Amino acid sequence: MKIPMVDMLAGYPEIKDEVEASVKNIFNKANFILGEEVNKFEKEFAAFNGAKYAVGVANGTDALRLAIIACGIKRGDEIITTPFTFIATSETISQAGAVPVFADINPDTYNLDPKDAERKITSKTKAILPVHLYGHPAEMDEIMELARKHNLKVIEDCAQSFTAKYKFNQTDWKYTGTMGDCGTYSFFPAKNLGAFGDGGMIVTNDEHIYNELIALRNHGSKERYIHDMEGYNSRLDTVQAAILSIKLKHIDAWTEKRNKIAEKYNLALKDIAKIPVIKENCKHSFNYYTIKFSDRETRDKVQKHLSDNGIANNIYYPIALHRQKAYAHLNTKPLEVCEKIQDTVFSLPMYPELPDEHIKAIADCIKECIHELTAKK
Ligand SMILES: *Cc1c(COP(=O)(O)O)cnc(C)c1O
Repeated sequence: MKIPMVDMLAGYPEIKDEVEASVKNIFNKANFILGEEVNKFEKEFAAFNGAKYAVGVANGTDALRLAIIACGIKRGDEIITTPFTFIATSETISQAGAVPVFADINPDTYNLDPKDAERKITSKTKAILPVHLYGHPAEMDEIMELARKHNLKVIEDCAQSFTAKYKFNQTDWKYTGTMGDCGTYSFFPAKNLGAFGDGGMIVTNDEHIYNELIALRNHGSKERYIHDMEGYNSRLDTVQAAILSIKLKHIDAWTEKRNKIAEKYNLALKDIAKIPVIKENCKHSFNYYTIKFSDRETRDKVQKHLSDNGIANNIYYPIALHRQKAYAHLNTKPLEVCEKIQDTVFSLPMYPELPDEHIKAIADCIKECIHELTAKK
């Protein structure tokens, strides 16, 4: 049996007719760049999140870069972020001229530890950039408190957390991405809301940031050939926007399915691995389902056993960013929690249509390996 991490076409039959009609319509109109479908999808995306504004951009990396610039970050400024994420989170900080400063992570949620973030604040710190890793909300109350106290901007990397809710069991609950100054999203095909190509989005409630973003994504221009500033070529494709509008209507059902799958994995694995911790006030979006073992040797053996049996699996992320060559010049001191977590976690196949038989086969395969390992001891 071969089981992939994601099956990007499994949900396609459900939306095929609508998608193909909408693409054909755009081909007939040929409004490929910033067509009306982009604005329509931006409005829908903002409304879904309960945000005032949304700006479509070329990908999730650009969403981060433009959000950082629109927040007024300047050369030499420092932004505190997590080292346990994809490099897009930090390379965009550097590309905007600022310096990423890595703080350690929470041992349960693997998200930025607000206490260590506070220890890393200097006179140059201008922003905090939490990532809602795997789809579990970061500790936003503490992060926002820190930001208020030190007058910092907050940019939320929601590439993995679209539909995740913070304090979902309280009346003032919020979607991730709507608590800081900006929330950034990726529509890379394997994300929870995936395009048929690249795409990204930024949401904000701040009119000034919104106006900056509208100009930044289109060469600094709000009116054709009028440039009050320089910008970038980073627009969300009309074709992708039209497809994403259609997919958005299914996103709640898909998130529910991901959560159901996580529950089934939990039930099967809770006695042999550390299953994902979900803080009681958080609603997870499960872009990734990640388990942890007591030590690296066990983790590696289980991973190998799965791979040998045709079951895909992956470590997000095997080398924390502060340990990468790209950041050697920062001379970051050891971040102990992060370095332990990177060596003991890995992620299992996760997508809304993942069949029950696959879940069972994956869990059985892990159990088999763990039983063999304990028998040997
Ligand atoms: C996917 C991802 C990004 C980048 O998104 P792209 O659309 O691929 O540019 C940024 N941050 C995190 C945490 C991601 O997982």
